[in-house]
Amino acid sequence: MTSFPTHRTRVHDARLPLHRRHSALRTCITLFAPYGFRATYHHLTLSAAIPRRLEADPDALVRAVEELHEARVLWLARAEEYAAQRRSEKRAGRRAVVNPRPWWLQSWWEGSNRAWYEDPFRHPSLRLAEYVRRQNTMLDGAGLPGCPACGDDRPLESISTGHGWVELCRGCAWVLAPCPCGQRHRFVPQTPFNWKGIWQRAHMSDDGTPNPHWARASQLDVARES
Ligand SMILES: [Zn+2]
Ligand SMILES: [Zn+2]
Repeated sequence: MTSFPTHRTRVHDARLPLHRRHSALRTCITLFAPYGFRATYHHLTLSAAIPRRLEADPDALVRAVEELHEARVLWLARAEEYAAQRRSEKRAGRRAVVNPRPWWLQSWWEGSNRAWYEDPFRHPSLRLAEYVRRQNTMLDGAGLPGCPACGDDRPLESISTGHGWVELCRGCAWVLAPCPCGQRHRFVPQTPFNWKGIWQRAHMSDDGTPNPHWARASQLDVARES
């Protein structure tokens, strides 16, 4: 069985080759990704400062998996509480799931966070544990100021759908007002991205800071591929 703790241990294991530890991190993200797989990976490259060449700072992989682990612990505790609550509701004869569903059971294509799945760059800049804590607080019924996902309170970003407007959080592209037609539209990234490049951290330098020359290079890659 694929388990998060097993792969977390592998990420820590300094005797393993770095590409194996990186691939163990990948497995951890497939098992738990608060921002979706690609956006969570992109977030971790920045927050854990994972360099372009892993050899430049092998500990970055450990920082990344620990940030993920910390958030997962918070989520697990809340998910277990929720499961227990559901069991007792069912025993009491209430089988229907209350709406809204808890944040981890919502589907991305109809969720307000769809952009995170369609553009790996658009996600909250919060540490993952902080995001999970925010979501859990709201699930408990507390209202929080600003964008529900990231707390950003700047004026919204308006995107035309051709027949209406969608209002998005400027920070993380969370949908605050959907298109009046009622459909959930695809989010089209402003600049095309090259996932392979992001996966290989072309957007990062060897010192763990964002690569200043990257945007142009990635667009050239995209042009070459098409
Ligand atoms: Zn936001
Ligand atoms: Zn529409």
